[in-house]
Amino acid sequence: MDSSKIIVQKYGGTSVKSPERIKAVADRIKSYREKGFSVVVVVSAMGKTTDDLIDLAKQVTQTPSKREMDMLLSTGEQVSCALLAMALHEIDIDAVSYTGSQIKMMTDGNFSNAKIAGISTDRIFKSLGENKVVIIAGFQGIDEDENITTLGRGGSDTTAVALAAVLNTRDCEIYTDVDGVYTADPRVVSSTKKLKEISYDEMLELARLGAGVLHSRSVEFAKKYNIRVHVRSSFSYDEGTIVMPVEEMMEKFIISGITSKQDEAKVTIREIPDKPGISARLFNELGKHKIYVNMIVQSTGHDNRASISFTVKKDDLKKTIDICTELNKEFGGTSVDSKEDIAIVSAVGVGMLSSYGVAGKMFGVFSEQNINIEMISTSEIGISCVIDEMYAELAVKILHKTFIEAE
Ligand code: ADP
Ligand code: ASP
Ligand code: MG
Repeated sequence: MDSSKIIVQKYGGTSVKSPERIKAVADRIKSYREKGFSVVVVVSAMGKTTDDLIDLAKQVTQTPSKREMDMLLSTGEQVSCALLAMALHEIDIDAVSYTGSQIKMMTDGNFSNAKIAGISTDRIFKSLGENKVVIIAGFQGIDEDENITTLGRGGSDTTAVALAAVLNTRDCEIYTDVDGVYTADPRVVSSTKKLKEISYDEMLELARLGAGVLHSRSVEFAKKYNIRVHVRSSFSYDEGTIVMPVEEMMEKFIISGITSKQDEAKVTIREIPDKPGISARLFNELGKHKIYVNMIVQSTGHDNRASISFTVKKDDLKKTIDICTELNKEFGGTSVDSKEDIAIVSAVGVGMLSSYGVAGKMFGVFSEQNINIEMISTSEIGISCVIDEMYAELAVKILHKTFIEAE
C-alpha cells in the first residue's frame, strides 16, 4: 500500500463530545476520502468521559487498583470509536473500529502510564485494503499478559503519532479545540499568539512542562520518526501549527512559549550527610517504587551536611514522603518537608541556545512582582522556576508580556 496516501487523524474529547460533533467528524473524514486518502482515525473518549469515569471509581474506592482503573478508563474510547464508525456508515462510508488489543497495540505493564512497545499493522492494512476507514481507540493498549493498559492522560495523541510511525506516513493531524499551538495556553493568556510552526524540541519541552495541547510522548515519537504533526481545530478548516524539525523552520524565536504546571509537589530532606552515595541511595529507592522525579536541587553543603529538594507528581507525594522518612532515619537528617501548592513556570525557545541574559530577565520579572523562586532548573532551550502556586497565572501572564508581546 502507498503510505503517502494514508493520513492519520486524531480527534480529541471536545471534537467527539456529542452525536452532532461525531457526525461533523464523519463529514470531515469523508472529505479526505474524496481527496483520495486512506484514513486511519484515532479517537479520544467523548467530552469529559475519562474524568467522569475517574469520579465513578472514587465513589467506590479511594484506592482503586491500577489494573482495574485502566480496564475502566479504556471503555471511554471504545464508545467513541464505535459511534464514529456508525456515523460513517450512515453517510455511506465503509468503516471499522478497533480497540487497542484488537490491533495488538503492545505496551509495557505500567498501568496508567504505559509505554508503547510495538503495534501490529496487519489488521489495519487489511481493512484499508478493503477500502475501509480504520478507527482506533486512543490511549489504550495491552501488556504481554493481555491486561488492558492506558498511556497516561492525553495519551491518544501518542497512539496517533505511533500509528503514523508504523504506517510510515509523513503527516499526522491532531484535531483539538484550539486551532494550533499558541505562545501560552489561550485559556490563561488572552493575548497569546498562534505559532505557524514549532520545532520538535520546543514542543517536547513545552508539553513536558505543562502545555497540555500535546502528550509529550507523542512529540518524542514524532521527532524519532520524523513525522510532521499538524495541530488544528476540528471546528474550522484553518491551518494550524506544524511541529517539525528545527532545520526546516522559517522563523525562530528566542522564546516561543510560556507554560506552567501545577501537578507536582516539592519534597525536601534537610541536613543529610554530604558524601558520595547518599543521592544515589535516595533516587534509586524512589526509582524502584516507579516514582517519577522531575526537578532536583541540592544545596551547597556545610559541616558535611546538605539538603536536597526535588519534585514528584502530587499523586506520588504520600508514597514519596513515606520512603524519604524511612531513609531519613538511616541518613540521620533533620527533617522531611513537603509543599503541595507549587507551580513550575517555564519559558521555552530554541533561540535561547544563542542568546544571553534570558535567565536574568526572567528572574527580574519574578523579583519585580515579589515572587520568591524556590527552585530553578535549566535545559538548553528552557528555564523553569518553582514558585508558589498562587502566583502561577500572574507569572505566566507577565513572562508572556515580557518575552513575547514586547519582542
Ligand atoms: P483534546 O481533548 O483535543 O486532546 P486537550 O484539552 O488535551 O484537547 O488540549 C487542548 C487544550 O490545550 C486547549 O484547549 C488549551 O487550553 C490547552 N493548551 C495548553 N497550552 C497550550 C498552548 N501552548 N497552545 C494551545 N493550547 C494549549
Ligand atoms: N481520554 C483520555 C484522557 O482524557 C486520553 C485522551 O483524551 O487523549 O486523558
Ligand atoms: Mg489532549
